Amino acid sequence: MKLVLASGNRGKLAELRDLLADLDIELVAQSQLGIGDAEETGATFIENAILKARHAARCSGLPALADDSGLCVDALDGAPGLISARYAGVHGDSAANIAKLLDALTGIESARRGAHFHCTLALLRHADDPAPLLAEGRWHGHILEAPRGSGGHGYDPVFLDPASGLSAAELDPAAKNAISHRGQALARLRELLRS
Ligand code: IMP
Repeated sequence: MKLVLASGNRGKLAELRDLLADLDIELVAQSQLGIGDAEETGATFIENAILKARHAARCSGLPALADDSGLCVDALDGAPGLISARYAGVHGDSAANIAKLLDALTGIESARRGAHFHCTLALLRHADDPAPLLAEGRWHGHILEAPRGSGGHGYDPVFLDPASGLSAAELDPAAKNAISHRGQALARLRELLRS
C-alpha cells in the first residue's frame, strides 16, 4: 500500500519509515509528489493532523498519514505546543527554537522543568473519509539546561528521558522509537489497522 506522509519533515519521515518497515507500506513524503504544506489552522493536535492528512489525500488521490506533534512544557503552560516547529518565528529552525526555549526557562530549577512530547497520527483512506483512524502518544521527560547529543531532530538535544538518563538526541534511533510519543502513537495505529 502506498501512503502519503503529510509532512516534509525529514526527521519524522525517517522515524515513521523505520516504525513501518515490517509492514507492506510504502511511505512517500508529500514533498516528493510536489504537494505543499496545508495551513495549520486547528486549535488542537488532532484538528491539525486531520487537516494535514486531508490536504495530502486530496492533492495526491492516495491514502494519507499525518503526524501533528510538539513539545509541551509544564512551566510554560504547555508552550510551545502547537507552534513547536515555528516557536522562534522561522518554521523548522531547531537551533533558534531551542535557544528560545532555554531562554524562557532561565532560572527555573530542574524539578520544575517537566515536559512531554505529544504526537497525534491521523490516517485518512481518502480525502472525504468520514472516520479517520486516530492514535496518540505522549513521552514525559525534562528540559535540560543545555543541549546534549547529536542525533534525532527538533528539540531532541534538550529533552531528557528520565528512564535512561539520556537526551533524546543521545538515544539511538531504535531506542527512541521504542519509547517516544511517535512510537507509542504508531503502535496504537497499528492495532487499529490490524482490527
Ligand atoms: P509539526 O510539523 O507542526 O507537527 O511540528 C512538530 C514540531 O514539534 C517539530 O518541528 C519539532 O520542533 C517538534 N517535535 C515533534 N516531534 C519531535 C521529536 O520527536 N523530537 C524533537 N522535536 C519534535
